[in-house]
Amino acid sequence: MEHPNPQTMGQQFGRRSWAEPWKIKMVEPLRVISREERERALAEAGYNTFLLRSDDVYIDLLTDSGASAMSDRQWAGMMLGDEAYAGSRNFYHLEEAVQTYYGYRYIVPTHQGRGTEHLISQALIKPGMFVPGNMYFTTTRLHQELAGGTFVDVIIDEAHDPSSRHPFKGDVDLDKLQALIDRVGVDQIAYVSLAGTVNMAGGQPVSLANMRALRELCDRYGIRIYLDATRMVENAYFIQEREPGYADKSIAAILRECCSYTDGAWMSAKKDNLVNIGGWLAVNDRDLYDVLGNLVVIYEGLHTYGGMAGRDMEALAIGIVESVQDAHIRSRIGQVYYLGELLTDWEIPIVQPVGGHAIFLDARRFYQHMPQEHLPAQTLAAELYLDSGIRSMERGIVSAGRDPQTGENRRPALELTRLTIPRRVYTQAHMDVVAESVKAIYDARERTQGLEIVYEPKYLRFFQARFERL
Ligand SMILES: *Cc1c(COP(=O)(O)O)cnc(C)c1O
Repeated sequence: MEHPNPQTMGQQFGRRSWAEPWKIKMVEPLRVISREERERALAEAGYNTFLLRSDDVYIDLLTDSGASAMSDRQWAGMMLGDEAYAGSRNFYHLEEAVQTYYGYRYIVPTHQGRGTEHLISQALIKPGMFVPGNMYFTTTRLHQELAGGTFVDVIIDEAHDPSSRHPFKGDVDLDKLQALIDRVGVDQIAYVSLAGTVNMAGGQPVSLANMRALRELCDRYGIRIYLDATRMVENAYFIQEREPGYADKSIAAILRECCSYTDGAWMSAKKDNLVNIGGWLAVNDRDLYDVLGNLVVIYEGLHTYGGMAGRDMEALAIGIVESVQDAHIRSRIGQVYYLGELLTDWEIPIVQPVGGHAIFLDARRFYQHMPQEHLPAQTLAAELYLDSGIRSMERGIVSAGRDPQTGENRRPALELTRLTIPRRVYTQAHMDVVAESVKAIYDARERTQGLEIVYEPKYLRFFQARFERL
């Protein structure tokens, strides 16, 4: 199949410069510590960038989670917090924003994304069931497993190939899903766990054509589809850019259409929705809402705040509206493209096409002499910090963790280091500095030695594991 090259499609900006649709009203000073101080800080952090103090970091590309800059309107909304225990007016603003822009009927607020994953997994998964999805996400899969389910990856093969330029590497392979249904029986499928701009594949989108076909297949069997909507606005941008017939549709309209093929969604509002904390779960099924609305009271808080303060819900309601503006998302992804184009020009191996929220360095091709046991992606993150104080994170064998049955390391095909761009925080000049630092460690790649794990916690080990140099 002949695909257009999404990278050059990004250069629709290239002919005339684009700029951020905002100006800066308040600044936060940055500081760079010396190379010796960075050596000491990283050794103390066990070579795990999650264990560094943020004061020791210069440009922080660890994650885009909760790291967005809020707008003046969002900050103004914080002053309008109604901190009533029950029935806060801010909850109703949030409910209305989710209903308007995502189109679901019933809303359950939570403290952040994994709170929603816990609730929906407990509500829908019985021990022994299977949960097919377009590649795993760390916290999502763990909650599915803790509820007794087994996650089954049904993403297309291209998603596991960092050099494939397929424009929708997040698509579900319907044959793989059909094979799973045939093998285990439809009653053993809890639901389809569908994600927008698949994080672990490098921020790769799913197409509307694929979502429509998935809906048809699932309707034949009465299987429900729940969407990890965390990055679905970014996904809508890629549909507008790449899918025939959508170039003139607004991001808001595309987002609504995406959601219309699903039965509900969960959200880490710390990503697309432009707030520092928060999450929500939304479903169309009243009976399921009753179960979720009851569970939230046990684990998060009353069903009209779910672990958020009133002011946080207000900032979130405003953030949802801002997040679906075409100018916002175009500049958000334009900045990611900008960094991607710099690195591509210098022939540094990255996942192609460039995804929605991050550049993923391909650590296997970066450190070709290093076996996966020597943790190339973790090593790359360490080297980048030592070079310039830039913080990134591992998405490879460490993040993949161990198989809960056998205890063996999972060995993912993708061994990546993620440079995640927070929304509305850094400038193009910061991106230049990042690219130059990546180039410097790329030039020194042959002299670089790997790492080994010296401590690993039981769950989600990448957050807290410690390493030493080989
Ligand atoms: C961040 C994230 C989550 C988990 O959300 P938290 O707010 O970090 O708990 C779930 N799914 C995806 C795709 C995410 O990026």
